[in-house]
Amino acid sequence: MVRETGYYDLLCVSPTASVEEIKKAYRKLALKYHPDKNPNEGEKFKLISQAYEVLSDPQKRDLYDQGGEQAIKEGSMGGGSSPMDIFNMFFGGGGRMQRERKGKNVVHQLGVTLEEMYKGSTRKLGLQKNVICEKCEGYGGKKGALEKCSNCKGKGVQIKVQQIGPGMIQQIQSICSDCQGQGEKFNSKDRCKICHGHKVERKKKILEVNIDKGMKDGQRITFNGEGDQEPGLEPGDVIIVLDQKDHPVFQRQGENLVMRLDIKLAEALCGFRKIIRTLDNRPLIISTQPGEVIKHGDIRCVQNEGMPIYKDPFERGQLIIQFQVEFPEKHWLPEHLMFQLERLLPPRDDVMMTDDMEEVDLCEVDVRTKEKNQSREAYEEDEQGPRGEVQCQTQ
Ligand SMILES: [Zn+2]
Ligand SMILES: [Zn+2]
Repeated sequence: MVRETGYYDLLCVSPTASVEEIKKAYRKLALKYHPDKNPNEGEKFKLISQAYEVLSDPQKRDLYDQGGEQAIKEGSMGGGSSPMDIFNMFFGGGGRMQRERKGKNVVHQLGVTLEEMYKGSTRKLGLQKNVICEKCEGYGGKKGALEKCSNCKGKGVQIKVQQIGPGMIQQIQSICSDCQGQGEKFNSKDRCKICHGHKVERKKKILEVNIDKGMKDGQRITFNGEGDQEPGLEPGDVIIVLDQKDHPVFQRQGENLVMRLDIKLAEALCGFRKIIRTLDNRPLIISTQPGEVIKHGDIRCVQNEGMPIYKDPFERGQLIIQFQVEFPEKHWLPEHLMFQLERLLPPRDDVMMTDDMEEVDLCEVDVRTKEKNQSREAYEEDEQGPRGEVQCQTQ
């Protein structure tokens, strides 16, 4: 059992979550709370990043599970990287070296259906981005008309003197608001009328995102140099991260598709023939062999009807079918017919009654109390770990 769950709660995962689940949770939350998209949630973004940094590293996660946040702090294993570094590392953005020559990468999440990943598809995505102004070619105004900023006298900074108490003054240095720290500016008649001296314009750009057959949840598609343009900088990339939507019938497990199929008791015992619709809407007929019995929870598979393999789409994984046998409700068969059914079924076991036996009532279980007990058991087992087995044997 873990000591505290704060980091898990931040990522909305359970303490038993797999590495994959933790990655997926971080991916969704980091994109949601990234300062580019949610400037007011900087603190939340930081906390999510911290939690991910610890939980994604098996050694740190172990330490956290045993000693909580305190242990991470004492072991000085947390807070090593900035939230942005963690984000960039995860989404494959530019490192520090790159950032100086290259503009920022922009990451977008794109919700994709399982059908689209199965059949392949093209999606059009409209993005707003900064483009170098065509009119002034990123100069900001008439060539050669730049003048020294009169507000800051060309220094790019302004110094404000503030009285903070009797006889006490404070000097605050800030970027010049007139020239935005450039030290030079155009006077209003020479300033570019299109970009108002900002050198760039906000424009809508349509990106065509090709979703290839077999692409996976979390897969990245990079558009090199499609990020914001800025004079003197190589533009960053636009990175599209695929986010697979849940499907009502199929769950994906790697290259396999998993589905549940309800069958009647008669079908389980006497055989059946059923139709399954694939993700590209082909009807597949599945049936049992004569004499075959399907038990509740049994699993069968169909070869080559799973997900296409990425970059090798003629190969496919398996379609895995988990059978759920629907039993009839109580009193479905009048009591006087019961013996007919019993005659056909395998014989039941007879119990010899003796005097030392006590007859007790068999009751329905209240579902809520049952769940509570089960979850408690699960935790107790975790706590005992391998020693639990020994205890069981000595009982
Ligand atoms: Zn312009
Ligand atoms: Zn200025």
